[in-house]
Amino acid sequence: MNGQNKRARKGTLAGPAAPLDRVLALASPYNSSLLLLIVFFLVTMVGLFVIRDLHATNVEAQKMYAGSVQGLQRIGELQYEVQETRRSTFYALTTNDSNLQLEYADQSREADRLVNEGISEYLRQARMPHEIEVGRRLQLDWSGYLGVRNEVLASILEGSTKEAVNLDLKGGVPSFERVRQDLQEIKRLYDEQASQQLANVAATSRRTIFRLIGVLGITLALASASVWAIQRSKMLGAIQLAKLQMEFVASVSHELRTPLAVISSAADNIADGLVGGKDQLKRYGSAIQNQCRQITELVNQILLFASTKEGKNRYTLRPLQVSRIIDAVLDNTAELVQEIGFVIERRIESGLPCVMGDLSALSQCLQNLIVNAVKYSGESRWIGIRAFVHDSEERSCKEIRITVQDRGMGIDRLEMPHIFEPFYRGAAVMAAQIHGTGLGLSLAKSIAEAMGGTLSVVSELAVGSIFTLHLPIVEKQESEMASVTSKPDPSIRT
Ligand code: ADP
Repeated sequence: MNGQNKRARKGTLAGPAAPLDRVLALASPYNSSLLLLIVFFLVTMVGLFVIRDLHATNVEAQKMYAGSVQGLQRIGELQYEVQETRRSTFYALTTNDSNLQLEYADQSREADRLVNEGISEYLRQARMPHEIEVGRRLQLDWSGYLGVRNEVLASILEGSTKEAVNLDLKGGVPSFERVRQDLQEIKRLYDEQASQQLANVAATSRRTIFRLIGVLGITLALASASVWAIQRSKMLGAIQLAKLQMEFVASVSHELRTPLAVISSAADNIADGLVGGKDQLKRYGSAIQNQCRQITELVNQILLFASTKEGKNRYTLRPLQVSRIIDAVLDNTAELVQEIGFVIERRIESGLPCVMGDLSALSQCLQNLIVNAVKYSGESRWIGIRAFVHDSEERSCKEIRITVQDRGMGIDRLEMPHIFEPFYRGAAVMAAQIHGTGLGLSLAKSIAEAMGGTLSVVSELAVGSIFTLHLPIVEKQESEMASVTSKPDPSIRT
């Protein structure tokens, strides 16, 4: 049966997906939340990257609008005001009404003020050397034209329209043409800039679209991979559990069959009158007693496990002296330990504070550890039990530690994460046909946790194992109450 179990254990993880399955099986206690957390983290990171990209595109588009589109708009206004300045001068030339001439001259001056403002604004915005150069040229050409325009206006207002026309034809037309060309040049520059920036924005938004598609793809792939991994690890977990339960049923049947066979053959011998004499009868009686005790312990452990799983266990927590718990355990296991010639080295630090717990539950917890130490000690016949106070960094407080140490076969590093799982049995112990149900450590761990503590293990193959029960220390007042009702601890006892 053990051979079959071993084969079944190997068979589940065989095939091409085996390494991945092993990883999934190892990660299974944390898989769903861990995987989802990683996916969430990755998607958030990529999402942030895309948001940054979108933001950059947005800023680029805004810059383009502010730089080129608004610039083009300003140049349009400038061109209009320049034309307005010239147009008003023309109107002044074409009328003989002095009032109208005055009004047109004012209109021309107002327009040229706006042009000057526009040119200054343009120069303030200009960044590129060529832009600045054209801007300065425009400023110069415009003031050149204004000089002629002022002379023309003065002649008109003095009544010499003919002279004004001559002045305009000679100086005004060519200088205005220069201004017009400058404005054309500036407009061309803006056009160039606008199309360049438009191309940039188009490229950035194209890039963003690709990235967005990438993110969606990655998200979809990651989400599918996670769902697949979660489903697979759940399936593996279910298969593993079913397998462990089958192994458990096989182990329990085996554990029951052996003592039952002994009891049955002893009973047969007695019934058939094959047992003669008081001594022989006594031996048979004690053999039956032993086997009954084994069966009772097995059944008790299974019942305890079932009640723990159903949350039916009601523990009575009270301050307990550590030595009292250890003595109770040693009393319970004395027969087993002495029978096979084990030495138990017992070291309890003097003046230990009390722990809060249920005496029978804690005894059961330590008893499971001692029974394991006995079962898995191999040739070594030594078990060490220590109790001491430890400054726990993790819990940032003091705690009591009770360790059960053996110098036996030790535990494989790969099996360490599983030994506290219900029904789990190590491959080596199954190969060695050492009997068990795979419930001892799971029970011990549940009890430790129910007492507000933990159970940890350090082990090395062929060197041995140290199981440590960590228990919180009871407040001083409660501890004093307990010491009144119980006898004091001896110092170190060996
Ligand atoms: P069981 O002893 O019935 O198999 P446990 O839950 O008590 O079940 O232990 C689970 C597994 O942990 C064991 O099958 C064994 O592989 C390993 N183990 C527990 N205690 C020891 C120990 N002291 N030394 C070596 N291996 C151990």
